[in-house]
Amino acid sequence: MFKNFVKVVKYLRRDPKHLRRFLLKRLATSGTVRDGVLILRGRHPQELLQKKIDEYVAEFVLCKICGCPETELVEKRGNMYLQCQAVLDHNYQVENI
Ligand SMILES: [Zn+2]
Repeated sequence: MFKNFVKVVKYLRRDPKHLRRFLLKRLATSGTVRDGVLILRGRHPQELLQKKIDEYVAEFVLCKICGCPETELVEKRGNMYLQCQAVLDHNYQVENI
């Protein structure tokens, strides 16, 4: 169970569906969001969830070129790109989740 799911999503300014898909894929499980809580099938220690969130932030929130957290995920022709808001030239493809 991931209690602060919606809080974390708001803080990261990402689509809750995207983060949910990422977590379910990385934890190889299924789950649903109910009342702001992500309910995961199986046992997943808090430290593991935290580690996955850190991975998500590194891959889908922080610009890999300058480290700026002000970024946006943009979908173009079925591919996902990370667009840095600090430097517009910082635009690269990320994994499709
Ligand atoms: Zn950047």
